[in-house]
Amino acid sequence: MKFDYAPAPESTSVVDIKASYDLFIEGEFQAGHGTSFKTINPATEEALAEIATADEADIDRAVKAARKAYDKVWGPMSGTERAKYLFRIARIIQERSRELAVLESLNNGKPIKESRDFDIPTAAAHFFYYAGWADKLEYGGFGTQPLGVAAQVIPWNFPFLMLAWKIAPALACGNTVVLKPAETTPLTALLFAEICQQADLPPGVVNIVTGAGGTGRALVSHPDVNKVAFTGSTEVGRQIAKAVAGTTKRLTLELGGKAANIIFDDAPIDQAVDGIVNGIFFNQGHVCCAGSRLLVQESIADEVTERLKQRMSTLRLGDPLDKNTDIGAINSAAQLATVTEFAADGDSSGAERWSVACELPSAGFWFPPTIFTGVSQAHRIAREEIFGPVLSVLTFRTPKEAVEKANNTPYGLSAGIWSEKGSRILWMAGQLRAGVVWANTFNKFDPASPFGGFKESGYGREGGRHGLESYLAKGGAK
Ligand code: NDP
Repeated sequence: MKFDYAPAPESTSVVDIKASYDLFIEGEFQAGHGTSFKTINPATEEALAEIATADEADIDRAVKAARKAYDKVWGPMSGTERAKYLFRIARIIQERSRELAVLESLNNGKPIKESRDFDIPTAAAHFFYYAGWADKLEYGGFGTQPLGVAAQVIPWNFPFLMLAWKIAPALACGNTVVLKPAETTPLTALLFAEICQQADLPPGVVNIVTGAGGTGRALVSHPDVNKVAFTGSTEVGRQIAKAVAGTTKRLTLELGGKAANIIFDDAPIDQAVDGIVNGIFFNQGHVCCAGSRLLVQESIADEVTERLKQRMSTLRLGDPLDKNTDIGAINSAAQLATVTEFAADGDSSGAERWSVACELPSAGFWFPPTIFTGVSQAHRIAREEIFGPVLSVLTFRTPKEAVEKANNTPYGLSAGIWSEKGSRILWMAGQLRAGVVWANTFNKFDPASPFGGFKESGYGREGGRHGLESYLAKGGAK
């Protein structure tokens, strides 16, 4: 049964959104020379602020500032001193967490309960975690020598958390950074620039350049960058790999996924159903490791599908700033068009669509939580990343068939196994070609745990001790 809840909107008075934002270069906000653009609230389509675009000359200034800071201040600084800055940043993130969470939900469309309870605390935890490594690099096993200037390009699905995943290990290892947030979600990165000022971080250690894909391209192609770190689509990842090929730049790519969430007939069904919901509807399915392919053992497929529909019917879609909201807005008109097109493809290929019967707000970008049954492996909705609240349901009979189906994808970022049998879980985990395998849970993250993919999901690991490797040169102590 679905209860009616009174509206419980989070106050927006905690954030002070400026009319316009410049680029953050060498510790100051500086005008950009490209054409500025508006960033909007995807839940209402209202403009939030005017954002500067960095052109090639701006990127060059940012990289020069990062180089200078690397050569003169941050590179030579001891790990112990660097750690103090990182701890300070982590504490400021905690202190300003409400402001960051509200701003993230306004600009991204994600429910406030997710930005408040997941994105921002996990981002702070990353800074705390890597602050702890800064003076212990010699024990990490990957060397102690930083690479230099890191160019970092991040997507719109977890704007602040992806910033933390990129910046915290880079700084801990002694690199300086130029980071480009996604065009649709620049605001929390620009608030982070203010946090760097508040933490007295030396100018040029962190630079934030806003703009669209062209700004990202100019940044990763800049000749004085030593390291490129990218999270986003496989297609852009490929373009970046080509742009970097033949240079001495180090590259890590965190790309898409089409994870199998595998439910065996001995699984605890209620927990599994909640795990399925969390796996695909968390953050509107805008999650690279989303459990977007459900593989259910045939004997329990009807029961699981029925219970899943019941559980989905209790999800609340609407105002992202309402503390009761489970499903927020799709991040952009373009992403909504993509999701809509995939769903139409599911219909025309003969799969059966079922969506939660809910009223969609009249303004903004919305898509109801949806499942497709009767899906075969050949269907596009079973093969390609939809990046929205759409689940494809497939069935299997034996563990071997489950493994074959799960691995039948060009991706390999994550997978989930639901079973009461420990031996089966261990066997399956060994067979699955996925960077992360969750057992009887899904979408669990910890700064101490490495994350990354196989095959077209990219290469390199973020998080944990392994995350240090991407930002350190192999070899002798510094
Ligand atoms: P993109 O890969 O285009 O965007 C990721 C980041 O790269 C953004 O900051 C983007 O800027 C920037 N960028 C775009 N083109 C270039 C380029 N040539 N060189 C350097 N940087 C570039 O993802 P989209 O936002 O277009 O999303 C498209 C699809 O990608 C989604 O439908 C989803 O399937 C997948 N995706 C996967 C993510 C993941 O976490 N694995 C995250 C986001 C998307 P700008 O924002 O201005 O375009």
